[in-house]
Amino acid sequence: MKTSRVHLLIHLYPYHVNIVMSTTQFSSQSHGQYDSKAYSSTGPKSPLVQTTIPRREPGDNDVQIEILFCGICHSDLHQVRNEWSAMPTVYPCVPGHEIIGRVTNIGSAVTKFKPGDLAAVGCLVDSDGNCPQCQAGLEQFCPHMTLTYNSPDVHLGGVTYGGYSDSIVVKEHFVLRVPSNLDLAGAAPLLCAGITTYSPMRHWGVTKGKKVGVVGLGGLGHMAVKFAHALEAHVVVFTTSLNKKEDALRLGADEVIVSRNTEEMNKHIASFDFIIDTVSAEHDINAFIQLLRPDGTLTLIGAPDKPHVVSAFGLLFNRRNLSGSLIGGIAETQEMLDFCSKHNITADVEVIPIQKINEAFERLSHADVKYRFTIDMASLKAK
Ligand code: NAP
Ligand code: ZN
Repeated sequence: MKTSRVHLLIHLYPYHVNIVMSTTQFSSQSHGQYDSKAYSSTGPKSPLVQTTIPRREPGDNDVQIEILFCGICHSDLHQVRNEWSAMPTVYPCVPGHEIIGRVTNIGSAVTKFKPGDLAAVGCLVDSDGNCPQCQAGLEQFCPHMTLTYNSPDVHLGGVTYGGYSDSIVVKEHFVLRVPSNLDLAGAAPLLCAGITTYSPMRHWGVTKGKKVGVVGLGGLGHMAVKFAHALEAHVVVFTTSLNKKEDALRLGADEVIVSRNTEEMNKHIASFDFIIDTVSAEHDINAFIQLLRPDGTLTLIGAPDKPHVVSAFGLLFNRRNLSGSLIGGIAETQEMLDFCSKHNITADVEVIPIQKINEAFERLSHADVKYRFTIDMASLKAK
């Protein structure tokens, strides 16, 4: 087994944490762990290639899952290309946090799952469980939370590896139940794109009759449209691409606006209760802030690396709010899955074999997907 030192700077939080740790290299094999097939990237410009990674044998509280489908989030692309200065990538990187699979083994203390059950894992695989955020069901804001990939791995050393893999072992608390009526490939993206759009809509009270804007019709955006429509809001999609108009209407939008058309934008000044901005790249958010009514809220969920420029005047007039939101807690993720079951909501997916992953990343970087890629993990098992 080869080990090397990795210096990881995490400054997601009000304070910065410096972690110096040792990374276990691939193809390690010792007691308490086993080899899993995966796709990884070895650098920001390297393609993803097949490899072998270590997974821990399930401990008392762990669930072992055979991965059936994994969605491809734009965050996977940002992370693999090391585009986030706030969250530098540790290579090799195995992305993937929209995981649906079947339970293959459980630890002795596991009570909610048994082998053969469907199970899901999102962006979180651990947290301290004690802090006020964890106690409030907001594990995503726990200062010690562990992300599904690119977080320090306390079990094996190195960093955690995500769902572009044939199996994963996760603490029971972070494993979700999958409603039986949902298509599995379409349900995978609910674990990130779903909860990331559902959570802020619940938090900021999207309900019947509210005028809600969705900026960007990609993976997150199309889920936002489906949720806002199911919550009976008046849904307006802002897109840069006129050719997504028919799709937006089919997905549940009441109106579609090409955001580069100033005349169209100006017709909606000071009229929105809530706008959710999913855009992954640099863009002018002031153009959307001015569309909020008094006390209206614009929530950023898209995560471009470059800081936004915000005009104070847009916020001063009409006492507007600018906010952000990060995925969602575990209980709320289960609530979202159950909401999807009731309203028959899944993502519109283009299912790909894992061998097409680099092509899919390239297309995703050009907003060319309708509306989420999902990897059929049977392609990784086949030899
Ligand atoms: P995506 O599928 O690529 O969708 C992003 C959409 O943004 C595109 O479809 C496009 O919509 C629009 N867009 C792209 N470039 C643009 C530009 N230069 N100007 C204006 N609009 C542009 O990505 P995604 O998977 O939905 O993720 C979106 C963002 O959310 C990413 O930054 C991701 O990292 C972040 N994210 C955040 C969280 C969180 O917890 N907050 C969770 C998951 C993902 P149109 O073609 O309609 O214009
Ligand atoms: Zn994601």
